[in-house]
Amino acid sequence: MNFQFGVDYYPEHWPEERWETDVRLMAEMGLKVVRLAEFAWNKLEPAQGRFDFTWLDRALAVFDRHGLKAVLGTPSAAPPAWLIAAHPDILPVDSEGRTRGFGGRHHDCQSNPTYREHVARIVGAMAMHYGKDPRVVGWQTDNELGNSHEDTCHCRHCKTAFQIWLKEKYGDITDLNRAWGTVFWSQTYDSFTQVPTPALTLTAHSPSLLLDWKRFHSDLIVDFQQKEIDLLRAGTTCQFITHNFMGYFDLIDYFKLATPLDFVSHDQYPWGFWDVPPGKNPGLLASTLDLMAGLKGQAFWIMEQQAGPTGWQILARTPRPGQLALWAAQSIARGADTVVFFRWRSCTVGTEQYWHGILPHNGVPGRRYEELKALIAALAPVMPRFEGALSGAEVAIVHSYEQNWAFEIQPHHPELDYVKFAQEVHAAFFEKNVPADFVSDRADLGRYKLVVAPLVFLDLPGVSDHLKSYVKAGGHLILTVRTGVKDTANVCLAENALPGPYGELLGIEILDYDCLRGVTVPVTLGQISGQGRLWWDVVTLKGARILASGTGTDHTGEPAATAHTSGKGVAMYWATVPDQDLMAVLIDRALVDAGIESLGTSAPGVELARRRSAEGDFLFMLNHTSEARSQEPGQGWIALVGGTSLAPFGFSVFFKPVQEGKV
Ligand SMILES: [Zn+2]
Repeated sequence: MNFQFGVDYYPEHWPEERWETDVRLMAEMGLKVVRLAEFAWNKLEPAQGRFDFTWLDRALAVFDRHGLKAVLGTPSAAPPAWLIAAHPDILPVDSEGRTRGFGGRHHDCQSNPTYREHVARIVGAMAMHYGKDPRVVGWQTDNELGNSHEDTCHCRHCKTAFQIWLKEKYGDITDLNRAWGTVFWSQTYDSFTQVPTPALTLTAHSPSLLLDWKRFHSDLIVDFQQKEIDLLRAGTTCQFITHNFMGYFDLIDYFKLATPLDFVSHDQYPWGFWDVPPGKNPGLLASTLDLMAGLKGQAFWIMEQQAGPTGWQILARTPRPGQLALWAAQSIARGADTVVFFRWRSCTVGTEQYWHGILPHNGVPGRRYEELKALIAALAPVMPRFEGALSGAEVAIVHSYEQNWAFEIQPHHPELDYVKFAQEVHAAFFEKNVPADFVSDRADLGRYKLVVAPLVFLDLPGVSDHLKSYVKAGGHLILTVRTGVKDTANVCLAENALPGPYGELLGIEILDYDCLRGVTVPVTLGQISGQGRLWWDVVTLKGARILASGTGTDHTGEPAATAHTSGKGVAMYWATVPDQDLMAVLIDRALVDAGIESLGTSAPGVELARRRSAEGDFLFMLNHTSEARSQEPGQGWIALVGGTSLAPFGFSVFFKPVQEGKV
């Protein structure tokens, strides 16, 4: 169920006399769907048990008259003042023991049974009222789950819930003690009720406790969402359920959060006020969208696509003319089937007064309205042709929330960051215009010719066998430093030398390593040179061949990258974190060996992205620069939108039918 374009609207923020004008203007620019009500708890339930849907009914009637369908958000991210006044223990407690007060949003604890009861009442009432309403096509659970909860809650309910979670996982406290190694520093527990949350203490908590806490907290939010989903599924017919994800946000295992949803939605803000100017680069934006497609391996929605300058107390730069449309086109190029802009009109009140919408504060359509209207006119007619299609990538990058959490707990090197490493790997493919999917560590890898699995630190159940089978069957796999180091409880493996269960597959052994604090190691690969950064494994060859070697004073002649044939495939190892130059060469070699072709060579700053449908290939050419660019798509492509001349921040779409598109 797709609508191509929509907008987020807050009828409760504006006089009712204005609604008709707003919705007429939306329809005139080609918008087909609107998201409503995700923060409107107090307007929908002004006092406990007293519901008022009349205003939302009237708003839906206006949308219906103009042909727009609605997605309703459950309002659990904004518990009203009356609820907090009656039940202040709903408020979250931070890791320093401070209760966070009412105000802002998300001022709640997701373990709190009272809060959950009230959420169930409002969600149940909404499902009852709108569950069979044909004007409502779907639901968004909560809003940006986990947002504002980065510190996690340490209240008594969360502590108890954590202890119950541990008991369910370990069964007996002696098993937890053994798994975590609580003999260290006399931390042995007699019962689960003695296990603390990782609140403020004098030194550092056990890495095993910290990892389980992160898992628990992710599970807690997944469970919180599931309760809403259960209520919605019970009360609705034919309406989809989605949630607005936040790209690389990492408090929750997004693969698990996505599982029960019909599809993933994402909030895409290329220039958020938190970014250093000029904001995220095009490759990083592309990787964020590819991660969102990877969560369920399917096309997605953008539920909030940037529609103007962003800011709360501080503002980001104003997108240049054409840039908002370009960013929306990029979202579509990388798998969005519907793009909903945030928001319709810049709000005059509240924290997000400067989070600008399509319309300025005065409500008069201006350049943003005209720019996005032109975008919709150009793209909406062709979008149904590639609905549901993704890039058809032959490269996958394994992404694991648990591995990321382990590195958040112990980064090793201050600059070693799991997500950043994954983004650098993605960037190497992006620069070559090679589509690359993000996949979970348990995903079916059969359709990929090349898989990169950075930092497979924890030996999680089944993963090493899964990756070994992939190589044996003919896959090309790249593993990196800090692979096969620990068990699932975040305890160091000691049965074999590093890289633990991967030694035989990779044909190497690592008996020594060097955290590269304050130094890099020059590396040569044929005529090409680069730098090894952050970490250096001293590799002993046990059948592998050397791809690149160190030349610095400390690690001269030591392998920087190796390859080992195993079964029908090849397993490669990066014994250091390659800089951009070295990674580009290593990826080039791997692409050639795996027989993977690029979408083509592009002019500087021009992104190429493909959606491969049953009908054929759709090629997007996106000019992320402020200068005009000329870009040829190659042989056999038919122009659908625009052409080979790309205006500053312009884009075009080409098509190649399937019989010519298949190599
Ligand atoms: Zn709590």
